[in-house]
Amino acid sequence: MSAVYRVDLDAFARNLRRVREAVAPAVPMLVVKDDAYAHGLERIVRRAGEEGVRWFGAFDVVTGAAVRAIAGPDARIFVWLIGGADDLAAGIAADLDLGLGDEALLDDLARLAADRPARVHLKIDTGLHRNGIRPERWQGALARTAALVDSGRAVLEGIWSHISEASDTDDDDARALFLAARDQARSAGLDPRFSHLAASAAGFARGEFREDLVRVGAFSYGIRPAGGPSETDLGIEPIARLTATVTTVDTAGVHLDVGSLHGLPCTLAARFDVDTPGGPRRVEAIRATETVLAPWDDAAPGDEIAIFGRGARSSATDLAELIDTIGEEIALRVSPSLPRVYDADGR
Ligand SMILES: *Cc1c(COP(=O)(O)O)cnc(C)c1O
Repeated sequence: MSAVYRVDLDAFARNLRRVREAVAPAVPMLVVKDDAYAHGLERIVRRAGEEGVRWFGAFDVVTGAAVRAIAGPDARIFVWLIGGADDLAAGIAADLDLGLGDEALLDDLARLAADRPARVHLKIDTGLHRNGIRPERWQGALARTAALVDSGRAVLEGIWSHISEASDTDDDDARALFLAARDQARSAGLDPRFSHLAASAAGFARGEFREDLVRVGAFSYGIRPAGGPSETDLGIEPIARLTATVTTVDTAGVHLDVGSLHGLPCTLAARFDVDTPGGPRRVEAIRATETVLAPWDDAAPGDEIAIFGRGARSSATDLAELIDTIGEEIALRVSPSLPRVYDADGR
């Protein structure tokens, strides 16, 4: 067996249950951007559907359409990277929920010939300035949305925003802007069914941020926040493990078949240990296509070594903290060239 990324779908299902319980009575939206945080979109969406997940957050329209094909007609699929009229048309055709954070898209929508109304979630910029309609332009955007609703071109399904989750005070300020924006929508005669602004961290820690939907990526995959609470405190578990195989043993050490080209940052060299049949050993070097460990007696080609993740000494976030980044970065770097193997309970 060569290097693989093993994904435990039963552990994923347990995380989904934990997420559902933690954000209740709000409903979780499973975020599946970046190939489901590199765990593999198809198997993740399929299992989530079996576990009763109804809302998916797919980022872009192409991914949204892929989720539609996997999850079937009843799933609600929210996308929020929409480039222009073509994306709008494709999003409506795939029956997606469209997160619009740019007034120009409302004009595009007014010109679009579509055979059904677009499901719109208007995004208010509450301070992150990534995209989103600025508060001073919100009233105008609401008027345009109301016109689209009146002419049957749109249904306002939601009001949403994204918060930094970096400081409670910033998030509180963002929430105040968000609630004011929603009040304005109601005063403009609009009646959005869904409000959403929290992701994993605020969805778990701060009840008042849950609203109707919580967009949960990281915690569904068992990735805890860097510098934050442990997996145990959160009640989640890592679902994937990067496993490498011993290729050769020589005087330089024990060579494994993963390297930086497979996603392991070189800057982690000499910073962490892995478990081996001979006990914990230091990762001494990380090169393009191999990793070298300190030797142990009887090391032999074919030995399997867990590098990080489920059942390993370090989680993705443990490694991230060693190089001042976040667990998602370690997880997302796992190369698509490594096979994903799906199995139950860590086997
Ligand atoms: C990635 C993303 C999320 C999920 O964030 P996590 O911290 O992984 O739960 C939610 N909302 C938006 C808009 C995102 O881009």
